[in-house]
Order: sequence, then structure tokens, then C-alpha cells
Amino acid sequence: MDGASPVPIHSADGALAGGQSLKIVSTLKTVARNSLAGVAYATGLSKALRRRSQDSLVVLCYHRVLPEREREAYPMRDLVVTPSMLDAHLDYCCEHYECLPLQEAMAALQSRRANAKPLLTVTFDDGYWDNHEYARPILNGHGVRGTFFVIASLVGSSSAPWYDRLARAVKSLQKSSRQGEWSSDGDDVARQWLRGRCGSQVHQSLSSIMNDAKLLDGGRRQEVVTLACRLAYLEDAASDSQDRIVDRDELAKLADEGHEIGSHTRSHPILTQSTPSELADELAGSKNDLESILARKIVSCCYPNGDHNHTVIEATREAGYKYAVTTASGLNEKTVDPLRLRRISIAQDRLTCLGGGCSRSLLALELSGSAEKILLRRSRGGRA
Ligand SMILES: [Zn+2]
Repeated sequence: MDGASPVPIHSADGALAGGQSLKIVSTLKTVARNSLAGVAYATGLSKALRRRSQDSLVVLCYHRVLPEREREAYPMRDLVVTPSMLDAHLDYCCEHYECLPLQEAMAALQSRRANAKPLLTVTFDDGYWDNHEYARPILNGHGVRGTFFVIASLVGSSSAPWYDRLARAVKSLQKSSRQGEWSSDGDDVARQWLRGRCGSQVHQSLSSIMNDAKLLDGGRRQEVVTLACRLAYLEDAASDSQDRIVDRDELAKLADEGHEIGSHTRSHPILTQSTPSELADELAGSKNDLESILARKIVSCCYPNGDHNHTVIEATREAGYKYAVTTASGLNEKTVDPLRLRRISIAQDRLTCLGGGCSRSLLALELSGSAEKILLRRSRGGRA
């Protein structure tokens, strides 16, 4: 999610210096990150950490792959990597890891040969069109088969996921010169909700607004999304098409080329808030949907937003899944619960060197599962 705060920072003379200050802070962070990772790489610490993960499975979590211009325009740019960055990441992964789709990697984890390369799986959440357009040829070029978790009800739909529609609408409303006009109009609950978060004089970050929206019940959330899109004039198909999910042909092509397709439920709800019948519909229903499109077994699942508890795990097992991934950060050892797999969330900006390219020393540290400890980084679950 977008971690940048929209609250402007004022310089000593009162002039707005927000953009410049944030850029300086960001550059200093990049220098510090690269220095620490460089030391870890040069002293052999990164290599030792990778060796320590010899008997573990590393599961990477990506979302979207878009060219830089589209990445910049996307409200949640932390969830996007550029094609050239994915290419550089896969160069490194292929050199040091055996890359397999999730179900094959989990089977291989139980029968590791001594001195084999450690195992790694590349996963993509949500199933955006750009996974087919940009990620697929890069993966194929490296001979890497990935695992794509797809929102089943949106396959072939012209509608974007609710969080993309809301994020684009909120961004637009925060910049809108009509803010006073819409925020003083009407008094329904959805409007009050929006007014309290992106009305004039309110400076709530997009990530915080999106987190609040996740806590709404499904019906209320839909009202908020619909109203936000109407107020921001984003009800047209062209707006949704930027964030659409793959269609049936694109999905079939991914599967035919050897990539694994997994379920990301039917409608991307927060499963810990779902009733037993909703859980069955979302988990077993999406499995059936995808199996009938692809005529092959679906055995892997991804919990939306990473949210899971005992009830969700039991419902996942009941629905017939063998493996499920979370957003908890870390590596997976042989003894891992296959329905609580950890992943490493990939954020491009955390893995760049000062020149803007991929930093292999940072990537080495990230994939070792020790980046948070060594870089003193706050643990944060990524969005799934
Ligand atoms: Zn998701």
C-alpha cells in the first residue's frame, strides 16, 4: 500500500517544502539501506544467511508489473514493480535458487538433496491483466514458472477490484477543487464516512483510508466505493480497465505455459469477518470456478489481505486446498503448516540502489528473510 503521507511539511520560512524534504529523507534511507546491505554482502553474511535457508522455501509476493509511467500514476505504487526490475530480480533468483510453482516447491521441500539450491516460489496476487502482459514473458524468458492467485469472480469482468476503484477515487477526491461542494452535500452514512477521511481540511493517508475501508462490512463498503467513484467521476469502463483482472483466455494461457493458478477467493473479502456460508462460497466456490475454466485441479489459495484465523484455516482445508499463503513475513521450513505459509513481500523501492537499478545486495538480504532484523525495519504485513 501507499505509505507516503499526504500531509505537507513546512520549511522554516513557512514555504511548502514537502516534496523536497520527502525526497531527501528517501535518499538518505536508500543510502543507509544500501550501506548496511553492502556490508552484509561483502562480509559474506548474506551468503551465510542464504546457506542457512538451505532447507527452507522462500515465497515471494508480487502484485502488479507495470512500466514506470503507469507505476507512478498508480495510487498504490508500492505494489508495483517495473518489468526491468522483475527481470533483474529473476536474474538473481535463478542464479541462487531453484524456482518452482508453489505446489511443486512444497513437494520438493520434503525431499531436499544435500547441496541443492534453496527453493523459491514467485507468487502474484489478485491476477491483474499486467501479470499476463508483462510478468508472463519475463518469467518465461527465465524459465521460471510462477503461481498466480486470481480473484475468481473478476476473471473476464470489466470491473476492477473494489480497493483499486476506491484508491483511485480517494486520490482524485483529495486533489479535487470541488471538495467543499461534495463534502457538504447530503448526510448518508457513506458520505459521512468519506467526508471524515478525505474531505477538505482532512489529511488522512491513503493507506490509512484503505485500512479503514477493509473494516467496513461488505455492503457498507460497496456503498462507499460506489459513492466515491460517482463523486470522482470514475464510473466509466476506461477507468476500471486500467485495473482489470485477467480474462479467461489470458488465464488459460498462463496455465498452459506451466504456471500454477491459485485461488484468491471469489470477491476478495476479509475472510475473518465472513460467516461460515460465506467462507464456503468464497473458498470452495472460487476453487470450482477456476477448475471449470481451466479443467485442472486448484490446490493453492491466498488469503485476501493475509487475514486468517483457525476458522478460516479449517474452512480452507474443508474446501480442499493443500496450500495457503499469508502475508506473515519469513521463510518456510519443512515443518511449516502448509495452510499458513509465510511470504516475503517485494517492494521495488526497498530494493533499489542509489542509481535507481536493482541492488543485488539488498535483494540477497531480503530473500534471506533477515532484512527486517539487519536493516532495523519495522515488520509490516503486505497486502495480499
Ligand atoms: Zn489481494
